[in-house]
Amino acid sequence: MAGRLAQRRARRAPEHLICTPPRAAQCPKCRAKVLVCHSYGEPVQLDAAHINRQGERIALIMGLGTYQWGDTRDEKCRRRNAGMIGREWPSTAWIHADHLCGWHWDKDYRDVRVQSAPLHYSGVAPPF
Ligand SMILES: [Zn+2]
Repeated sequence: MAGRLAQRRARRAPEHLICTPPRAAQCPKCRAKVLVCHSYGEPVQLDAAHINRQGERIALIMGLGTYQWGDTRDEKCRRRNAGMIGREWPSTAWIHADHLCGWHWDKDYRDVRVQSAPLHYSGVAPPF
């Protein structure tokens, strides 16, 4: 019994590698609207624009990390790894890229589901 519990604890991520829901903020350098959160313990500053699959490709080519949040499981922000990127585009989550001062996402690279998607927010209004 104790062995099972120890195994379960070992599989969980350490508590210092937290993921938190994003909150609206302002970039201290360029004053752009951004989202700030922790992804696996790393503090991140995300561009507020929702990006689509093509936008994610551009972000990855530019060397920017991409992050997912807002799905029905929880609203925590998680960096997208190769496995997540290779899967089908998430229907119930938003994808954002790292904020890059001065960079503006063209409408062709933005996710247009904003008005119609049945995205899950537990009382937290999206900041965009
Ligand atoms: Zn900035």
